[in-house]
Amino acid sequence: MDIRGRSTVHGLRRENRARALWDLYLNGPGSRQRIGAGAGVSPGTVSNVVGDLMDQGLVQESGSLPSGGGRPSSIVQIDPGYASVVGVDVGESSVLVELFDLAMQVRGRQRVPTELARLSPTEVVGQIVAGVGAVLEQSGAGTDDVLGVGVGVPGLVEHAPLAVVHAQTVGWDAVPLEALLREHTPLPLAVDNGAKLLGQAEHWFGAARGATDVVVVLLGHGLGTSIFTRGSGARTPMSSPGEWGHTAVVVDGQPCRCGARGCLEAYVGAGAVAARYDQLRGSTDGPPDVEARVTALLARAGTDPAAATVLDEVVRYLGAGIGNLVNVYSPTRVVLGGWLGRQLAELRMPEIAAAAAQNALRTPFADVELLRADLGADAVALGAATLPVGRFLSSGGQRDAVHRSSPA
Ligand SMILES: [Zn+2]
Repeated sequence: MDIRGRSTVHGLRRENRARALWDLYLNGPGSRQRIGAGAGVSPGTVSNVVGDLMDQGLVQESGSLPSGGGRPSSIVQIDPGYASVVGVDVGESSVLVELFDLAMQVRGRQRVPTELARLSPTEVVGQIVAGVGAVLEQSGAGTDDVLGVGVGVPGLVEHAPLAVVHAQTVGWDAVPLEALLREHTPLPLAVDNGAKLLGQAEHWFGAARGATDVVVVLLGHGLGTSIFTRGSGARTPMSSPGEWGHTAVVVDGQPCRCGARGCLEAYVGAGAVAARYDQLRGSTDGPPDVEARVTALLARAGTDPAAATVLDEVVRYLGAGIGNLVNVYSPTRVVLGGWLGRQLAELRMPEIAAAAAQNALRTPFADVELLRADLGADAVALGAATLPVGRFLSSGGQRDAVHRSSPA
């Protein structure tokens, strides 16, 4: 066999291992028959692949399925304790670092409150590095156990090839975050937009699971989207980190923190909602924290006319924004997430859907299902952790390959 032949066999073996691992990861414990059917390989091949993965300790027996009269078929699963993975959420009010096992159960957590608008990139790097140290200690995991560290950040992330962050709203202009982190940790790193990562967590584990064309909306202080279109699928979770919040809904409208006017975020972002409420009632009394103020406003919407007016306006603008998304992407599902998005979905989902319907073309909107996100805003860290996990699964479970590979 020539070298090309060998590498093809090697590539095929790796591809089969990757398919089996993705199946077990996204669909949970299952029989060899299920894995074989999903991967399109023969029973003999799937037995070899699973046997290999069991020898490695990555896959284990986890019970058996009764079968009508015949031999019960055994169930296998990925061993949750085989490795750990770290997810980081660089949010606008805190840096959250979590260590997960392969079943994505949290084994260590550290949250440091921050005011990103006033925080230097060097300080954020220091907090991430300290947080990784803290969660390793809490969980008893060693650096060798960790597949990598995924980091979710606000703004646009350019992979050049190391991640550079452009987050205009928090004053980060071409911050070489990955290079800065690289100076302090030997662990494999992957950095991406937080909204995109929250969308990926929803797509793998939440309300967007199983949908091929889906838009996940993340509404909190800012407003972002994660867009999965046909063909990207769960195995190759490509999505566009849309800066949808900075599309104009009113020409020459309210000033936005990005410097432009009339952006959707300037009407439905938490800061805008709190400011509009203060303006309507002519007072700035209330908790100093924007999240607490907005949550209090929503709770008063049934009794306080000013709160009700703000909520009605937010529903109309958000509906118009969703209508635009539907017209552009024709998704079959729109998932509303983020701490504010989930609260609005709980309070006013039918009204949001009606406002979206008014602003969308009838044909694309007829197929759309509008759902509240399953996962909370904390799921950005979980989404960030999917980056090293995805790389590991696609490598066919080769840890060395993961540690050597450069970030995607
Ligand atoms: Zn803007």
